[in-house]
Amino acid sequence: SKITGKGRVTHYDVELNNERERRLAIEEQIRHGLEHNEFDVWYQPIIDARSQKMVSVEALVRWPRRPEGPLAPDEFITIAETSGLIYGLGQFVLSRACQDLEPYRDLKLSVNISPAQFRDPEFEAKVEGALALSRFPATRLQLEVTETYVLENPERARSAINNLKAQGIAVALDDFGTGYSSIGYLRRFNFNTIKIDKSLAGLVDHDEQASALVSGTVRIASALGMTVVAEGVENEKQMKLLRLAGCDQLQGYWYSQPMPIEAIMALRQQRQC
Ligand code: C2E
Ligand code: CA
Ligand code: CA
Ligand code: CA
Repeated sequence: SKITGKGRVTHYDVELNNERERRLAIEEQIRHGLEHNEFDVWYQPIIDARSQKMVSVEALVRWPRRPEGPLAPDEFITIAETSGLIYGLGQFVLSRACQDLEPYRDLKLSVNISPAQFRDPEFEAKVEGALALSRFPATRLQLEVTETYVLENPERARSAINNLKAQGIAVALDDFGTGYSSIGYLRRFNFNTIKIDKSLAGLVDHDEQASALVSGTVRIASALGMTVVAEGVENEKQMKLLRLAGCDQLQGYWYSQPMPIEAIMALRQQRQC
């Protein structure tokens, strides 16, 4: 810590230092965790709004075997991004998810990709490699990106999206409705899918403005030929309203929490979805 003019360590300095040490410790733990198989990939069903059948799953990384105790993805993903460890972690998630889903031919797979991963000029080639190794067809894969990524380098984003689409891979704009993401993006980048964030979709059952915003978004996205997914569906009323608003697919705790692949398949059999 720094010593102030009066020779005292300020509270502010101590906090900053603690935060930095914590980040460094977690960085080291991620490195260790990747080498020692501490990470898992869980899946959350994505349901067709009309048929109520499971059509796809989203892969979500978990860290259940961290010796210091489990940590939420929001926390360790950020640290993995700033330290470059996201390349290894992202590659692990993609490969594992392709392996896990390969036998279930009627299900698609959606995988989250960090903006940092796209900075890698080899990204598209690495995806192709992971698909080839697991014999997973490109046409069953969708990658989810956020607008941060598009904002960071629109030219690179446009070419990456087009390269991926040329391979047969679909690209989704995740967390729509959280940032500045506007209808403009939808037109300028050829996303196959938009995912309406849970902070917006989750309001439809008690906020008319949010409801109108969702309906408007769905109308425009559909007119542009995009699939619309609503995230964070937590109750039956939301499910019905989002379906009425025209969302094509629904995802949320109302259907299922994220779970290991075996549990997802058991649920599917039990509910015949
Ligand atoms: P996301 O991509 O927006 O993922 C959806 C998050 O919402 C997940 O949190 C999921 O468990 C949660 N969720 C699903 N249904 C509901 C619901 O009905 N209500 C509520 N309140 N939440 C719901 P999770 O798994 O903790 O992941 C958080 C974020 O971490 C993800 O947000 C994504 O940005 C990131 N993340 C997770 N796995 C990966 C990964 O493998 N790679 C990358 N780059 N990021 C990941
Ligand atoms: Ca996502
Ligand atoms: Ca999301
Ligand atoms: Ca998110």
